[in-house]
Amino acid sequence: MKPLKVKCPKCNYEWETKSKLTYLTCVSCQRKFLRPQEYEEDMSAEEYELKLKQIIYKLTHDKELDSKEEKIVGGIVKRI
Ligand SMILES: [Zn+2]
Repeated sequence: MKPLKVKCPKCNYEWETKSKLTYLTCVSCQRKFLRPQEYEEDMSAEEYELKLKQIIYKLTHDKELDSKEEKIVGGIVKRI
């Protein structure tokens, strides 16, 4: 499994993780990972949580994201 490079939206700390958890915790400021703006606009918390699980699954299994998922993760999670 490839590590993910993630960036904390609170403190902008970047690190690599192999965690499969839905929510990652920033290793710098300890805040829970992370709430993109799209979540506020058109997704419920439940929908967002489910989608985030799918996204993390796809990223950790080297699968392509669809356009909605790309929008959610834009700038915050990327393959390395
Ligand atoms: Zn942080």
